[in-house]
Amino acid sequence: MFSSESGIIKDTTVRYLLAAATTLLRTVSSTPRLDAELLLAHELGWSRAHLLAEQAYIPNAHHVVAFHQLIQRRAHGEPVAYLVGYRSFYGLDLLVDPRVLVPRPETELLVELALEFARAQSDVSMVAHAAPAYHIADVGTGSGAIAVALAVHLPNARIYATDISEAALEVARANVERHDVAGQVMLLHGDLLALLPRKVDLLVSNPPYTILAEIDADVREHEPHLALDGGPDGLAVYRRLLAAAPTWLAPGGSILLEIGATQATTVSALAHTMFPLSQVTVHRDLAGHNRILAVRTMAHT
Ligand code: GLN
Repeated sequence: MFSSESGIIKDTTVRYLLAAATTLLRTVSSTPRLDAELLLAHELGWSRAHLLAEQAYIPNAHHVVAFHQLIQRRAHGEPVAYLVGYRSFYGLDLLVDPRVLVPRPETELLVELALEFARAQSDVSMVAHAAPAYHIADVGTGSGAIAVALAVHLPNARIYATDISEAALEVARANVERHDVAGQVMLLHGDLLALLPRKVDLLVSNPPYTILAEIDADVREHEPHLALDGGPDGLAVYRRLLAAAPTWLAPGGSILLEIGATQATTVSALAHTMFPLSQVTVHRDLAGHNRILAVRTMAHT
């Protein structure tokens, strides 16, 4: 479609490039037009708004060829976020690359609930610097998406963000620095809760919970298996995490876990086994799928 033989490469407007790329991506992406816009804006070094206002602009051949290459890679299933190097999450620009799972919009619901829980549990009547620190563990932080979003919105939170992948923690570190929350977020390289320096008031996690053989082939091919693979039944990490959680949760503490759409019943049962007196609730994402499991323990247990 962009071949110079056909002459298209010359005098090709933004409008034409977007239309052609959208057509090409239609079979591989559920958001072909958005993907094309993000990739062309990235290639030109423009914002998406600027791109949309300049549809009659004719990019030079260098940009057209580079855009064509990006579209080809997208057509082979690479996530847009890896191609442009960032992803917007809870209103924050996060750096992402193949060392980490691309932050998903569903996970923003976990952040929203965590903010609600934290505000209800900590003393919001006090100004930030006088309020006692509220301690959070983010297990399997990956890009640091959850930890950074919570730190930005909860000035009195201290967040221990753990990951078993040292490579992922390098990305998390870049995001912590980018958003200036190094004073609040401590990155820990290790398995689950093992390295926590203290008990926490809130434990959050988007652990690997898929059955690799069952997921979208593009996701399986391009995103890190360490962040996706929940073992033969998808539940392996929840079992280990919930078994360890009682040791690390402060009295009255809460847990928020992202879950797969079909896992609510099983993970609720696991949570009830480990926390018999707790209140367990399931929250749906915008698509109507069960997505977040919340466990509220009792202060006196
Ligand atoms: N939501 C992701 C997917 O289905 C999985 C994320 C995870 O395992 N934590 O692609």
